[in-house]
Order: sequence, then C-alpha cells, then structure tokens
Amino acid sequence: MTSTTCYVGIGELVSGRGRTGSVNADSVHSIPNAAILVRGDRIEHVGSEAAVRPQCPADTVFVDMQGKTAVPGFVDPHTHLVWGGDRSAEFNRRLHGATYVDIAAAGGGIKSTVAATRDASQEQMAAKARKTLDTMLLHGITTIEAKSGYGLNREAEIKQLNVMDQLSAEHPVEMIQTFMGAHEIPPEYAGRAEAYVDMLNQELLPEVKQRGTVSYVDIFCEKNVFELDLSRKHLQAALDLGFKIRLHADELFPLGGAGLAAELGAISADHLVHATREHMQAMAKSGTIATLLPGTSFFLRAAYADAAAFQEAGCTIALSTDYNPGSSHTISQAVMMALGCMKMGMTFEQAFLAVTLNAAAAIEKADQLGSLEAGKQADILFLDAPSAMYLVYYWGVNHVSDVVKAGRRVVQERRRVAD
Ligand SMILES: [Zn+2]
Repeated sequence: MTSTTCYVGIGELVSGRGRTGSVNADSVHSIPNAAILVRGDRIEHVGSEAAVRPQCPADTVFVDMQGKTAVPGFVDPHTHLVWGGDRSAEFNRRLHGATYVDIAAAGGGIKSTVAATRDASQEQMAAKARKTLDTMLLHGITTIEAKSGYGLNREAEIKQLNVMDQLSAEHPVEMIQTFMGAHEIPPEYAGRAEAYVDMLNQELLPEVKQRGTVSYVDIFCEKNVFELDLSRKHLQAALDLGFKIRLHADELFPLGGAGLAAELGAISADHLVHATREHMQAMAKSGTIATLLPGTSFFLRAAYADAAAFQEAGCTIALSTDYNPGSSHTISQAVMMALGCMKMGMTFEQAFLAVTLNAAAAIEKADQLGSLEAGKQADILFLDAPSAMYLVYYWGVNHVSDVVKAGRRVVQERRRVAD
C-alpha cells in the first residue's frame, strides 16, 4: 500500500514554480504556515496547512516540522564525483605561492588525479565517492550530474562509470551520468589531441552508449586543450550516437565554446567566464542553459561569470559546485548561492532558482524535480532556519536539518537515516 505522509508545522515554504527552467525568478514564492502532502514518492498537495489538512486521507501520517523552512531538494548539475587520490598538499603549495605550472612540473595538477584514478580499485573509488554523496545529502543535494573524465583511457573511464552505476543503485542521491573522456589530453597522447578524439569517437563512445546509463557527453573546450574544431568533431560524434551534449566552455579564454554550445544545441554550457554577449544571445535562442560555477572562480582566485549579462541576454541560469579535486573542492550549493549573490550580482530569488528548478532543467529534469508542486517527485529539504533567506544571509553554514528524497525521509535531525 502506498504510504501517505503530511508534513505540517512548516514555518515557511519557499519554491519556484513550473516544469521548465525559467529566465526570470518571479515564480519564487513563499507560503507561511505551510503543509506538504506526500503519497509514495510524489507530492500530492502543497499549500497553507489550513488548505492541505482537509485533503489528507484517513490513514495519513502527520509529521510536525516544528516551524522549519521547507525548500526543494538542491540539484547540482555539474560534478566530477568519482576520482582517486588527494590534492590537499598541492593546494597548500599553491597557497605558498607555487603556480599551476610549478605544480604540474612537480607531477601535480589534473595529471596526478588521473594517475591516482587509474591506480585505484573500483571499490576504493566507490568508498570515496560514497562518502562524498553522504556529505552532499546532509547538505541538501538530492540529485546530481556526475562526470567521468579522470581516467582518460578505456579501462579507467569505464571504471569510473562502473562506480557511478554501483552508487546509483545503492545511494539515495539521484545521479545523472555524463561521459567526459575529453576532459584533458592523456599523457599517452601528448601533442596528439586529434588522435585521442578519434579514439574516443571510434572506440569509447559506442561502448559507453551500449551501457544505456549515460545521458550526456561533455568536453573541456579550451585553448590548447580541445579547441573548437576538435570539440565540434567529438560532440557531433556524440550527437550522432544519440547522446545529448554539454560543454565546459570559455572558462579561461574567450575561445567561443558558448557559441559552439548554441550551434550544436547543447543542453548546458558551463563556466562561461569569458563568453561574449553575442554567444550569450545565441545560447538564449538555442535554449542552452548557462551553468555558472562561482566556486571555481573563488578557488582559483579568478574572474567570475557575469550573471547579469546572461540574465539580460535571456539565458536561463543554473549554479553548480563543479565539485572536483583541483579547482573547486566543495559540495555546498548554499555557498554557491552566496557567491552568486555576492560576487556575480544575482538576487536571492535568482540564486535560489539556479540551484533548484533551473539546475533541474540543466539535466532535463525540471518536469519532475526542482520545485515543491503537486505531481512532482517529493524531494524536500527542511531548514533549521527562520527563513530560506538564511541560505545566503547566514552563509557558509549548513542549515539542512531533514531531507526527504523521493518520498523517503533519508536525513532526520542532521543524521542519515538507515535505509
Ligand atoms: Zn567541471
């Protein structure tokens, strides 16, 4: 029998509205003294407690949330979840003044993560990623996009995807998979980027497609890595096989990745620190979501993307942590909201929508996730805070007290509930 639970005593409920991502954040609204009726894994009713209570069937279990604030589960649409090794010592060298070139020359940087990922067993990497997923869940992240891309050869890329399959089956955090073999040029192909892309296109993409669990192909479209022609070649091969695509674009240099994303109909283009106005407009036309990653700008002491310009161009904006060991080692979407507001000129409502409904749209899940509305999956956070504003106003603090994922309470009073 399907269980019915009604969460009552919600001090304030804040959510966007809609089944698609949205350019303007006008739909973000607040309901005081709210209740949410959940049947099975779905939301059945949302509204004031006075309006929802009469809708509850006789066998409803009532759970009093004692004045907590309810918001939709956070979606993180850009993570590098699975990798081996540890780069904290290298990070400290950076704080002592070492440059990326120094660090790379000493065997550090992404190449050290690639080596550690190749060396690690599937079980070792799963244990590490499982811990990350637990931390994400405690911070209210209920759905993520996760990329391969630290193996850079057949065996290690497939191993990363195997870890994702394994964790998808056992962990409440919902995972959308992306293949990113074109994250960097592996040492075996130094100076031969095109040969590497040809290998990916001919050998790995068809094999990855066969798995049936990978939705997207992503590429690091950047000067001196995969430039526009090679990026186009790889992404076109992915499209031909029936994958959807997303891009790391214009992070370090205005190469034109944002324009390529629009041209090829990418679902999302990410980073975009140096995207031009013309390409922003092209993205708005193609419906490509602008996924901005302020954590990376913060961690690299680099420039931030111009959220206001994307807004003005008519782009739908999502925010993501870019969780990875080198350029953004964090899982907090609340901190991304704070950076979006303080460093990229976003309003609270824009930042809120960017980690909920628009983040869901960046992985094509806005019809199911990203807002608290009847018919959507019951992914709900309860914050131990007087208002949702505290996500940004009282920043750097985890306010998430309880998490409901697909109708199941998986975090209660800041502790994981046993499955
Ligand atoms: Zn990334």
